[in-house]
This record gives sequence, structure tokens and C-alpha cells, in this order.
Amino acid sequence: MKAKNKIMKDTLRYKDESCLVEALTVSPCLVPRPAPLVFGHARAAYLGLAIGDALGATTEFMTPGEIKVKHKVHRKIIGGGWLYLKPGMVTDDTEMSLALGKALLLAGQWDLKGIAENFLAWMKSKPIDIGATCRRGISDYRLKGQLEVPYNEWDAGNGAAMRMAPVALFTLGDSLLLKEYAIKQAHLTHNHTLSDAACVVIGGMVQQGILGTDRHKLHETTRELVAEYPSFRFNNYRGNASPYVVDTLQTVFHYLFSTANFEECLIGVVNQGGDADTTGAIAGMIAGAFYGMDAIPARWLKKLNKEVKDEAENQAVKLVKLSPWGSQHA
Ligand SMILES: [Mg+2]
Repeated sequence: MKAKNKIMKDTLRYKDESCLVEALTVSPCLVPRPAPLVFGHARAAYLGLAIGDALGATTEFMTPGEIKVKHKVHRKIIGGGWLYLKPGMVTDDTEMSLALGKALLLAGQWDLKGIAENFLAWMKSKPIDIGATCRRGISDYRLKGQLEVPYNEWDAGNGAAMRMAPVALFTLGDSLLLKEYAIKQAHLTHNHTLSDAACVVIGGMVQQGILGTDRHKLHETTRELVAEYPSFRFNNYRGNASPYVVDTLQTVFHYLFSTANFEECLIGVVNQGGDADTTGAIAGMIAGAFYGMDAIPARWLKKLNKEVKDEAENQAVKLVKLSPWGSQHA
């Protein structure tokens, strides 16, 4: 009875009734999700990215102390921040993801050159924000047609990891394909072992969340990462939330596993400040994939820029249909 109660308690976090029923007889949520729910969780992953970006942009580059003085707890999509955003607008994290997803949908298949072209068109459109490493990689493509920047010890920023959502959806159901394409898209701008590892693990966690998993399995994925790259260890989290991909993932993982729902996770992350739009974006895509649409607060969905919201949801469904999982189920 005790064990059954524990399963019930764990399972109640998921909000999918199908999981709840399954949990009574089988380990919680390890049974594949029905197709309509998979699409719902995929949409939640993409929307989670955009919401985390829009919410975090307000507190980017601030310290937790400064955030406390100004907002007490920052929990509303109000724009502002150093970019003076309108409420609901997003930054490079979401814009680069949408550019990447759009290239895949246009080609109907993997198209690295198409992605590079879309990144270039995006850069030429004078975006509100662009990271220095991304700018360098895209400029190299423009000048030399280069689709892979050389290895660089300074490339361990989070700029490749932040745009993993469309890659995770496009390769849903095939972890080898995910790994290959995660690294290929990363190397357009960032070539570093830690950035590569982060891209693969984020994509893997998004896929796990979409297809149905439990917190233990999700945590196991981070433990495997830490076993291979100990710098990602995040117990005894020290509060560093910089653009260094190690700090970024430590922040995301700390709040993902120390909170009980999408909203608490994102509020925790963005109130840590630092590179808050990107930590918010990455936490949003993983937590969105894991908790699903029901867990996303309606007030955040309502505030998100409508064009961005529609495009993210539209891409999510179409990318999953193109994926290995989609070819079997959709
Ligand atoms: Mg940004």
C-alpha cells in the first residue's frame, strides 16, 4: 500500500490521467504516451522555450539580489530588461530555434545549409540580440560557406544548446539521429566538447519528457552526463547562472529537480538572474516537455507574442510529424 501511495504521489505530478491509470499497474509513466499527448507535450516543449525566454529576458544580467529589490519575486511576463522588450517578446534563443525549425520544415528533411541560410537571414534582419559566438559562426558561413567552425576552447557558451528544441522534435524516437544532428547544428557556431554534450543531453531530456518518463529516469540522464563530464555536477549548486554552458545546465537542473511543476521551475531559474533568458529557455523546453500543456500557466501563454506562439506550436506539430516517431505514429 505504501509503495502504491508513493507511485500515486509521484504520478500526480504528471497531470496526464492516462499516466495515472497506468501507474497503478506499471511503473509510473514508463508506458509510451498515446499519440495526441505526445503532440501536446511537444507543443509544450516549444512554447516552454519561448515562455522561458520571454520571462527571463526581464532579469538577464541581474543578480538575485537586484532582482529581489526590483521585483520581489519575478513571476510575470512584463518585458523590459536590458533589451527594453515589449511584454511577450522573445530574444535570440527563440528566434534562432524558429529559424532552424523553419529550415527543416521547408526542406522536409535534415538540411544544414538551409539552417545556416536561415541563421544568416536572421542575422541580416538585425535581431534585437545576438551572441558573439553565433555572430562569428554565421559570419564565417557567409564569407567561406563554412558549415562547421573549428574546435575552439572558448566555444563552451550556451548559444548552441539554447536552440535544441526543434532538433529534439525533428529526431523524436531516434537517439542516434538526435546526437548526430545536435552536434551538426551546434558546430555551425560552437565547437566545444561541453557544448556538444549539453546539446545532446538537453535534446535527450526533451525527447524523454515528450514520450513519457518519470523524474527518476530524467535525473538518471543527468547523472550519466555528470559521470562523463564531472563539471556538470549540480548538487551543492552555487548559484552561478552565466552563459558558460556548465553554469547554465547546473542552474536548469537544480531548479528542474528541486521544484514540483513547470511554473515553480521557471520562476526559480529566472530569479537566479545571469543569462536568465537562456536558462529560462532551456528549463522551459525540458519542463514543458515533461509536464505538458496543462502545466503551463494560462497567464504566461496569453502574454506570449501571438505570432511567436502560433509559429512555435505550428512548428512543433509539423516537426514531430516529420520525425522517426511521427513516421510510425502520426
Ligand atoms: Mg537571448
